[in-house]
Amino acid sequence: MKRIGLFINGQSVPSETGKYFQVLNPATKEVVAEVAEGNEDDVNKAVSAAAAAFNQTEWAVNKDLRYRVLNRLAAILRESLPELVELESMMTGRPIREMKAQLSRLPEWYEYFASVAKTLEDAVPPFGGEFVNYTNRIPLGVVALVTPWNHPLLILTKKLAPALAAGNAVVVKPSENTPVTTYFLAELAQEAGVPAGILNVVQGYGAVVGKALTSHPSIEKVDITGGTETGRHVAAAAGYNLSKVSAELGGKASVLVLPDANLEEAVNGSAFAAFIAAGQTCVQGSRILVHESMYEDFIDKFIAKAKKLLMGDPKKFDTDIGPVISEKQYKQILSYIQIGQEEGAVLAFGGTAPEQDELANGYFITPAIFTQVTNSMRIAQEEIFGPVTCVMKYSSMEELISIANGTEMGLAMSIWTNNVRDAHWLANRLEAGIVWINDHHRIDPSSPWGGFKNSGIGLENSIQCYKDYTKTRNVIVNISRQHFDWFDGTTQEKRYS
Ligand code: NAD
Repeated sequence: MKRIGLFINGQSVPSETGKYFQVLNPATKEVVAEVAEGNEDDVNKAVSAAAAAFNQTEWAVNKDLRYRVLNRLAAILRESLPELVELESMMTGRPIREMKAQLSRLPEWYEYFASVAKTLEDAVPPFGGEFVNYTNRIPLGVVALVTPWNHPLLILTKKLAPALAAGNAVVVKPSENTPVTTYFLAELAQEAGVPAGILNVVQGYGAVVGKALTSHPSIEKVDITGGTETGRHVAAAAGYNLSKVSAELGGKASVLVLPDANLEEAVNGSAFAAFIAAGQTCVQGSRILVHESMYEDFIDKFIAKAKKLLMGDPKKFDTDIGPVISEKQYKQILSYIQIGQEEGAVLAFGGTAPEQDELANGYFITPAIFTQVTNSMRIAQEEIFGPVTCVMKYSSMEELISIANGTEMGLAMSIWTNNVRDAHWLANRLEAGIVWINDHHRIDPSSPWGGFKNSGIGLENSIQCYKDYTKTRNVIVNISRQHFDWFDGTTQEKRYS
């Protein structure tokens, strides 16, 4: 069995207490690895190492170095994908086909943000008078990245690539459920030339390591992805320290099927939205809003589609759905399935343990489809984070908008239609940071990702995210050949602002 240390100052080290915790494969409950369990002292060590590296290495001041190193990291990462895909699938239980598709795109983030760092121009504000004014973007210093378990390397990469490209030093706290690949990514970064101390990883529990890191006074920015309640605690601590905060939090995404939509395409899209990653995505299509004219047909076809999804061993390439991450999550999902029935919704399909004996050891739940759901029910409002979705009926565009916007979350939605006018009209009325039209889940390093309402604050991806990892130094130059003396004893009018 593998034992994995903390990664501090370019080295694998045990934690201060010498303790380890186990990472389990949710498909089998077998131990994947034992990982060093950090605490406050380890966080302090990592933050000090990061601060020293930020001040003493060339990283913060040499953009060309960062450009070269991040492109090298992208290349090394591409070569290391098979091992990382396998490990990530073992830790998360997500089917190997999903992990391969997801991880194969990660190098693009390092390439994209390396290019942004290399090409982004600073401003020359039109200051007026005999002044030249220019701005310089400089890195923030030491930043903290806290990640969840559902897409361990993707979410880390969405934060790490811009943070490093902008010249910061980083301390990462991965989820206690899935910390293994984060450690290996740090080793690959070192191999690519990231100086020791610029990237550190402290594994451990949220209430200990996460809390110590995100409330550390030397942290200039906290970037977290996690549940909404976690985000509130972290943002409050960051607020006290006056550090920047970016928080990608919970979701309750609607899939809006318009009356003209191609039924088959909408059904396939809804299944993709609702059941990929066993529904454990922040943008999971957990509310499918279907026009009354096609509601019955949609449900029949949607159930038929769900029946065909192959639940099984994540290692097999034909597996569509794997287990959910943990016993805690498994129990939470089953309790929501019960709550839905108690609220009067109809469990039209799934929501049970699978029949196959070989899956009995893992946390498997068959895809669950609720019908007869109203928008005020808890299953329609609260994030379940599992393979459970609610199909709801609407009769007019006004009702559709009211249901779609009728949650406290505002991360993402998708619209399914062939009517270009309605698609854009509707997109501009939805309270969500991301709106897909005839698609769901798509992502690109150039394309902003962030939630409205209780789904978070700040952005991942895009040039804006890079800028958020910098601060601006504004340089104002007086180029006048006249010497300036405000107190020259005259009462001449002068510009002083
Ligand atoms: P979580 O909130 O339990 O944990 C997220 C991370 O925060 C973990 O590393 C955890 O250890 C740490 N943490 C927990 N308590 C902390 C504290 N008090 N201080 C500092 N750190 C703390 O979330 P999870 O169960 O790992 O992930 C699922 C959640 O993440 C869902 O709500 C999901 O919607 C959300 N998510 C959002 C996005 C997005 O882009 N908006 C993407 C993926 C997941």
